[in-house]
Amino acid sequence: MRSDHRPRKRFGQHFLQDQDIIARIIAAFRPDPGERIVEIGPGRGALTRVLLDHTAFMDVVEIDRDLASDLAEVYGERLHIHQFDALKFDFCHLAGPGLPLRIIGNLPYNISTPLLFHLLAASDCVLDMLFMLQKEVVDRMAAGPGSDDYGRLSVMVQWRCRVERLFAVPASAFSPPPQVESAVVRLSPYRQRPVAVDNPDRFEQIVRAAFSQRRKVVRNSIGRLIGPELIARAGIDPNRRAQTLSVADFAALANLSVHTERQTGNSVQRSTDTGENRS
Ligand code: SAM
Repeated sequence: MRSDHRPRKRFGQHFLQDQDIIARIIAAFRPDPGERIVEIGPGRGALTRVLLDHTAFMDVVEIDRDLASDLAEVYGERLHIHQFDALKFDFCHLAGPGLPLRIIGNLPYNISTPLLFHLLAASDCVLDMLFMLQKEVVDRMAAGPGSDDYGRLSVMVQWRCRVERLFAVPASAFSPPPQVESAVVRLSPYRQRPVAVDNPDRFEQIVRAAFSQRRKVVRNSIGRLIGPELIARAGIDPNRRAQTLSVADFAALANLSVHTERQTGNSVQRSTDTGENRS
């Protein structure tokens, strides 16, 4: 790698330098030849070079043109380099028939939440994902009802994936060190989701509305989308707060609202709510 590359803050560049942590990440990922492996943000290749000990070639998505060209120089045809914004990248086009993607990355923390939502939308063609993220984001993904960390991200991730928090990583493992603690998490999309959702858009809409006003009781926060009688008919006390509802509760609300709407022919106004910071 070129020694004159200076880490770019706007791309969230904190490069892994701790060889033990790199080895632990790869051991947790367990790459095998013949798999369709994709790395997001390979940077200077800290994970890439070890992954290539296990696979003949792999895909990487890297936004930084200089790093992408350095990687091309070092690894040649063994790396399929997509110099592209991962937020706009169509991951599913890399999957083959019967060959779902295994995605890995020490993700740029400044875009981690939108990137996770983008990847969740592609989860049907993904076998598993192993990511380094801010510890706070991993805590939110893994949190259950009743926890302060539980929110929109928890529900939307846990509906689609099994979440395993693997281990914490200190800031000293990176150069330059980030200001926050980090953690490694594995997400395994369900082939058969334990909670059935009839209309994913409605589910998303209700979860978003509920957590955009997380201090309010649900009859107030989602009342515009589903009235108190229907909330009660879903078996949920309308005076509960979003933070206490399980993924299955949100699914029950969404499914009931869609069925009732079909029966009555009413259409619920689409939410324009974007006001949630702690997604
Ligand atoms: N994998 C390397 C490592 O562990 O040392 C680098 C990790 S660094 C935290 C994040 C990487 O993601 C950087 O290489 C950065 O250029 C890249 N990146 C940032 N934003 C990106 C985006 N929108 N799309 C693709 N790559 C991005």
